[in-house]
Amino acid sequence: MDVTSFGIDHNILLRGIYVSRKDTVENGVLTTFDIRMKEPNREMVMDTAVMHTIEHLMATFFRSHSLWAEKTIYVGPMGCRTGMYAIFKGDLESKDVADIFKECYNYMSHFSDELPAAKAEMCGNYLDHNLEITKIECKKFADEVLACLKEENMVYPRQTK
Ligand SMILES: [Zn+2]
Repeated sequence: MDVTSFGIDHNILLRGIYVSRKDTVENGVLTTFDIRMKEPNREMVMDTAVMHTIEHLMATFFRSHSLWAEKTIYVGPMGCRTGMYAIFKGDLESKDVADIFKECYNYMSHFSDELPAAKAEMCGNYLDHNLEITKIECKKFADEVLACLKEENMVYPRQTK
C-alpha cells in the first residue's frame, strides 16, 4: 500500500489543502486531498462529534453543488481527527479547489438549518453531533487558513514540481 501522506514528516506539517495522492483509473485520474484543519501533533484535534458533523455538512455541500456534485467521489474524516479527506475526479492541484473549499467552509460556518441526515434511519450514530462547535472550527479554519492560503499551505514539504 502506498499512501503518499504517510511518507511526509507530520511534525512539520501546517494547516491547509494538500494533494495527498493521485490515482489513475479506467477513465482518468482521481485526486485525493488532505484538508488539514489542525497542525498534526502540535494542536488539539477535533472531537468525534465535530468530525461527524463536518462529514455530514461537507458531504451535503458537495453532493448538492451544481458544478462539483458530478466531480465528487468521496469526502470523509481523517482517523487522526486533524482534518478531512476529499476525492475528486480529475488531475487537480490545491489551487484548483481553493475557491470551492472557501465556499464550503463558509457554508459550514453559517449553517443554521436542521443537520442533514442526522436521523436514526440515515446515520450510524445520529446523536453524536455538535453543530455549534463545528461552526466555530470551520470559521477558524476559513479565517486563519483559507482566507490567506500560501504556498506552504498547499504543497507538502517534500513535494517538488
Ligand atoms: Zn452520520
